[in-house]
Amino acid sequence: MVPSKLTKNFVGGQWVESRSTSTIPVVNPATEEVIAEVAGGSHEDAGRAVAAAQEAFPGWSTTSPAERGKYVAAMGEALHERADELAATVTAELGVPRHLALATQITHPIAKFARYAELAETFAWEEQAGSSRLVRAPVGVALAVSPWNFPLNQAADKIAPALLAGCPVILKPSEMTPMSTLAFADAAQDAGLPPGVFNLVNGAGATVGEALAGHSGVDLISFTGSTAVGKRIAALAAERVARVTLELGGKSPTILLDDADLHEAIPAAVKACFLNSGQICVSLSRLLVPRARYQEVVEHVREVAEGYTVGDPRTRVDLGPLASSTQRDRVLGYIARGIEQGARLVTGGAERPPGLAKGYYVRPTVFADVENSMDIAQQEIFGPVLSIIGYRDDEDAVSIANDTPFGLTACIWSHDLERAARVARRLRTGMVRLNGASDPQAPFGGFKQSGIGREHGRYGLEEFVEWQAIVGS
Ligand code: NAD
Repeated sequence: MVPSKLTKNFVGGQWVESRSTSTIPVVNPATEEVIAEVAGGSHEDAGRAVAAAQEAFPGWSTTSPAERGKYVAAMGEALHERADELAATVTAELGVPRHLALATQITHPIAKFARYAELAETFAWEEQAGSSRLVRAPVGVALAVSPWNFPLNQAADKIAPALLAGCPVILKPSEMTPMSTLAFADAAQDAGLPPGVFNLVNGAGATVGEALAGHSGVDLISFTGSTAVGKRIAALAAERVARVTLELGGKSPTILLDDADLHEAIPAAVKACFLNSGQICVSLSRLLVPRARYQEVVEHVREVAEGYTVGDPRTRVDLGPLASSTQRDRVLGYIARGIEQGARLVTGGAERPPGLAKGYYVRPTVFADVENSMDIAQQEIFGPVLSIIGYRDDEDAVSIANDTPFGLTACIWSHDLERAARVARRLRTGMVRLNGASDPQAPFGGFKQSGIGREHGRYGLEEFVEWQAIVGS
């Protein structure tokens, strides 16, 4: 199974061979076998894609929002037709268990196209302010750079609003999971998008990603990935004052207030840390617990974590392997460091899970007696590792929760919603969920080193438009 499109790019409405001489292996993390080769990408590939997008801009930016909305809806429908096939592909390239792939990796991104299509009708594209007509004008050519952990979802958060705003898009997907993201180009073709409005360039971040991000013809970069690469992207964008949206890492807390319903909160807290084998930016990887209930909580968390099954993602397990050997080694490194720095291993650890001779598997791991200054509490692990930290009172919980370079999300559990909301207002995070609530239309993004800008709903659309004041009209 080597889709030949992987050595091509989708540029100007056609699949064209990449000009790079190198390829990058795509490895199935459950079997450790190479299942495909993707083009390494070149400067020339970047240049051709930018030229195609620039050529498409005058036409696309002047179509009506209603017309663009129809194309966005049609792309969503074209993806929907491929949903089952996409779930199987994500399982092969990323290792997400097959029965979870559809729900967690495929359904959400498809729904986003439908929701953005609806926004075409309700978004305030123009308004009058005194003697000025204020127009939400598309920013220009948009570069979408996406990570491997949710290959379709994180890309959809950029493609759908950019297209609706009137920006031609160039997608540079992660070279680790390039197979599923080919579907965006197929969907653009099925939807009949004009040439150059959607382009896809395969390849490595350090070569073609860098060439695209540094290209003077790119007006906006919407990046999701690590904080380290996000800083590099921001520096490249700053050279030419290109717009930039950064969705970066996190070290997010669950806070159990002393009146929380532990039977509800603990399974939810463990799940919110281990989802996607912990490879999720919003992983709630620190569990903050009142000292008076500490032992009770640790025991309960151990029980829940030990109920998680790990194994072949084609079977009905809870956790598949981590996405790569690099990722597995990084997570095992953090587990070793947690032990070295004095945290207490409650369950899991660095040994290979039993019965799994191959594959990048890691045991679901829980540490207790964690100090917030330890590496496992400060740094994004991106694996199934939960750190339980004790606190004295609400004041102390807020201070520990905020004591991190990140500020992506948090979750507070309490019977008293007003008290929980008071605590929420003191957290320096872009989102705070009360008792596990979620809202796909709420603005999503980070404070501090978790990023700049917002995605989802109209807040995501606003990143791709800027105000133009037509004064005297
Ligand atoms: P990464 O930063 O290594 O790579 C992300 C993308 O950037 C890839 O497509 C890569 O090829 C590209 N890239 C790398 N170097 C580049 C460069 N110099 N110029 C241009 N492009 C470059 O991240 P990753 O390992 O793929 O993803 C994991 C990270 O993503 C985690 O830190 C996670 O928290 C973060 N993430 C954040 C969110 C969010 O919404 N906040 C969502 C998902 C993942």
